[in-house]
Amino acid sequence: MTQNLAQTVPSQVRSASGRPAGASTQMEVWQGLSAAVVDAIADDWYATEQKYRAGRMEHYFSAEFLEGRALLNNLTNLGLVEEAAQAVNAFGQNLTDILEQEPDAALGNGGLGRLAACFLDSCATLDLPVAGYGILYRYGLFKQLFEDGFQTEHPDPWMEEGYPFVVRREEAQRIVRYNDLTVRAVPYDMPITGYGTKNVVTLRLWRAEPMEEFDYDAFNSQRFTDAIVERERTADISRVLYPNDTTYEGKVLRVRQQYFFCSASLQEIVDNYVTHHGEDLSRFAEFNSVQLNDTHPVLAIPELMRLLMDEHHLGWDQAWEVVTKTFAYTNHTVLAEALETWEMSIFERLFPRITEIVREIDRRFRQDMAERGLDQARIDYMAPLAGDKVRMAWIACYASYSINGVAALHTDIIKRDTLKEWHDIWPERFNNKTNGVTPRRWLRQCNPRLSALLDEVAGSDAWVKDLSLLAAHTEAADDALLDRLAEIKHANKVDFAAWVAEREGVEIDPDAIFDVQIKRLHEYKRQLLNAIYILDLYFRMKENPSLQVPPRVFIFGAKAAPGYIRAKGIIKLINAIADLVNNDPVVSKTLKVVFIHNYNVSPAEHIIPAADVSEQISMAGKEASGTSNMKFMMNGALTLGTLDGANVEILDAVGDDNAYIFGATEDELPALRESYNPRTTYETVPGLKRVLDAFTDGTLDDNGSGWFADLRRSLLEGGEHADVYYVLGDFAAYREAKDAMAADYADQRAWQRKAWVNITRSGRFSSDRTISDYAKVWGIEPQPVA
Ligand SMILES: *Cc1c(COP(=O)(O)O)cnc(C)c1O
Repeated sequence: MTQNLAQTVPSQVRSASGRPAGASTQMEVWQGLSAAVVDAIADDWYATEQKYRAGRMEHYFSAEFLEGRALLNNLTNLGLVEEAAQAVNAFGQNLTDILEQEPDAALGNGGLGRLAACFLDSCATLDLPVAGYGILYRYGLFKQLFEDGFQTEHPDPWMEEGYPFVVRREEAQRIVRYNDLTVRAVPYDMPITGYGTKNVVTLRLWRAEPMEEFDYDAFNSQRFTDAIVERERTADISRVLYPNDTTYEGKVLRVRQQYFFCSASLQEIVDNYVTHHGEDLSRFAEFNSVQLNDTHPVLAIPELMRLLMDEHHLGWDQAWEVVTKTFAYTNHTVLAEALETWEMSIFERLFPRITEIVREIDRRFRQDMAERGLDQARIDYMAPLAGDKVRMAWIACYASYSINGVAALHTDIIKRDTLKEWHDIWPERFNNKTNGVTPRRWLRQCNPRLSALLDEVAGSDAWVKDLSLLAAHTEAADDALLDRLAEIKHANKVDFAAWVAEREGVEIDPDAIFDVQIKRLHEYKRQLLNAIYILDLYFRMKENPSLQVPPRVFIFGAKAAPGYIRAKGIIKLINAIADLVNNDPVVSKTLKVVFIHNYNVSPAEHIIPAADVSEQISMAGKEASGTSNMKFMMNGALTLGTLDGANVEILDAVGDDNAYIFGATEDELPALRESYNPRTTYETVPGLKRVLDAFTDGTLDDNGSGWFADLRRSLLEGGEHADVYYVLGDFAAYREAKDAMAADYADQRAWQRKAWVNITRSGRFSSDRTISDYAKVWGIEPQPVA
């Protein structure tokens, strides 16, 4: 039987530190407490795995899992927060301080990786037989610092000091072969607990290791450096997460990484099939399905063909039959040109057999399409191979039994545009799965005050497992409840202000409106539009000192890909605006601008519960779904957004009165662009000229980089390439909506009523709803272990 934490924690801490618990460092206490949690779930984890492996399973393949911190999440799910607090109190430690010791497992870039993490949380909570597969990157996404307002990137060796939430499974290692290198793939399993269940899902992260610790031959023959180089080449495979979620650097290495985790995972899945169901692989898809999170894992398709044909003796047709019943593909981008392609030469160099299989898929595809009567131009457009390029998305579309977008609007766009040719032939494959976020991490755990109120109003914590239950309480918002909601938000803002003061050295006023935009830095997400608004407001206040402006704090968090100079320019611009505003003796009494450095999952958990306004202002049609919009909604922030991604569905859920929507819509934009001249907009919309001129007239300092002039040019020059993201075009509507919103804040009862509607109607944005929908596609049912 498991013992309670009061017994296990001190001994785990002692073995982590080699000292009495009371004399251990906070980091050692974190280590020991985390080990005690793994100890507490070990039996259930094992039981879950045994049960799942014997039946039908879904396998979620993703190059990214942005897990964030694990300890508090596990304690929350297991109902052990109080017990843990007492256990560490007993030797003079405070749980809050201990939790802050934990590094973020930042094995993802942004939304796509965080989605994978929320999905596993939901699979565990819903008792669904699912496992996740990815890479144990030694360095997660880079750490971001600001130097003179410029982003600098630093390595994040997140598990160098040991990480108790992954367990090395030496015995389950697999061999992955490349033409020029053979490596061992060693799995590190991370337990993913669910809320109020014994089921524990496994996230299997593979690490690349050399076949032998040292190449003794090379050492003995004095080729010392050869031996080291070989080791390093192997370690490279799982060394670093690529910090770019649109275009990729280090192409060969990137393809090596993709094949690495796909091959190791499929070998394991096939072996497990053989163990339970014997050597006849033709029934593989009855027991296994694989979800491809974007195109990064698409090499799994030819790799499964290889395993079935070369190692298990199926013929091509039989193998293809299995493959096309196994894979399902999630698309995450509307831009056909952003879909992943690789040079054939990389494939030839790394894996000739996979290359051969891809060529054969291409040959048969062309034959199949010709038989269906497609014309040559269309066949060439859709074929897996184009000249010397391999198109990963086209392979995914051809081989998958299901293809989904991630919000209703996004799915419409891919059917109509991005993947139109595929939809024409296989409309039945297409379906929508609007993204979701887990209410455990993004409400229960990060906002304990609001959670307690919801327990009280709903009569129990059942909403944590079924967020749609809150909808029954929308009408419960009497004045007393709205006042409590206001108090909770205020208390969260006080906590957050203290966190900001300590972390960023900026004092902010908890009575001000906290207006937040946190997400990766991309031009299409239009942080620049927000920046232009702030600078315009600054000038309006300078011009008219008696202007009535409610106190505001503009909060940003964003990393830019290291090679994406324009995105880095926008970061520098926002930091320059922050300098200007925060150091102005008059304006700074009303306005503050804070750029939270190193935005990540745990900063998000501090920021979101304190937000009043959720900025979701991408150019319509560009944001596939967005998920921070959902986290904000659950925590009672009001959306200021365009009709893009899941914002459309948020608006549908809360109604016009409870969100602030502005700007050109996706279907209006093509016509608007026809006659759009950003120069005219710059000259005619009051205030715009003053703002854009301030980029270059000495008001703002870019330290001689020339970046602000580039930003200004990107908006005004380049003919039809000027202002591609319609920043100036949407500015007037944005300013109007944002001013109106700020004015509305004064009526706190009315504001909190809108917030309450947002909270109680957020049920459909729980990842439990998304995963229940996926489970139907996957053909799996809950399998509770007890
Ligand atoms: C939710 C989340 C994202 C996604 O944010 P979007 O606004 O949907 O792009 C990115 N990064 C982190 C750390 C998140 O928690």
